[in-house]
Amino acid sequence: MKPLAALTPAEARALRGVLFDLDDTLLDHGKLTEGAYSALFRLREAGLELYAVTGRPSAWVRLMARLFPVNGGVGENGGGLVGPGGKVVDAVSTSERAARSARLATLVAEVRCAFAELEPADDASERVTDFTFDIGEHRRVPPERVAEVSAFARARGATVHVSSVHLHVGFDAVDKASGSVRLLRMLTGVDPSTATTRYAFVGDSENDVACFGAFRTTIGVANLRGRPTLAPRFLTTAPRGEGFAELARVLGALRASAE
Ligand SMILES: [Mg+2]
Repeated sequence: MKPLAALTPAEARALRGVLFDLDDTLLDHGKLTEGAYSALFRLREAGLELYAVTGRPSAWVRLMARLFPVNGGVGENGGGLVGPGGKVVDAVSTSERAARSARLATLVAEVRCAFAELEPADDASERVTDFTFDIGEHRRVPPERVAEVSAFARARGATVHVSSVHLHVGFDAVDKASGSVRLLRMLTGVDPSTATTRYAFVGDSENDVACFGAFRTTIGVANLRGRPTLAPRFLTTAPRGEGFAELARVLGALRASAE
């Protein structure tokens, strides 16, 4: 990983937008700081489209798209796509969603029987496409236990995503990268190669790895160090929301200097 200072004006100027993770990237332990909130406005003033790409419920992204200077986003690790004004799009039909929800309920019952100490995340009831266990938000689950649960769910055909706070299971074969590319196609009409070269992604953890691999301009906030199995190209010096604000300052300065 290179320091963010190694990003060139040409690469910064070519960007159309920034895709950003929420927990431990924009947010500091679940809270939005004044500095991180302001950074969204600085990025927009720099001419960039903004999209939240998160494992949180799609309803969270919907609220952001309605209230924040954000164009839309991806919720539930790619399961829900949210356009301007907060319209949520499910990629599957109502009947297929019902079938997957029933299958997911069976899986969750099996997981909770096998791993009785696991607790649902406090946003589990707001979710449409996945079920989520709390592994680091209000309680700590050891990494080796997280790996056991992940293997248990995958052996039953589920898709699993792990972030700094949550373990997600579901039957939608999605990830943040595929969801982001579909979202950008839906909202802006860009093809996948344009999406992955003209939009930057910033994140902090394992459920961001698909985006770290798919997008050309990838940035990790400093708290990421040593965690994901695939690293982004650039790393901020500051962690979490402060690192996001650092990214906004650097992109703003580089894009202005290149004009
Ligand atoms: Mg995160």
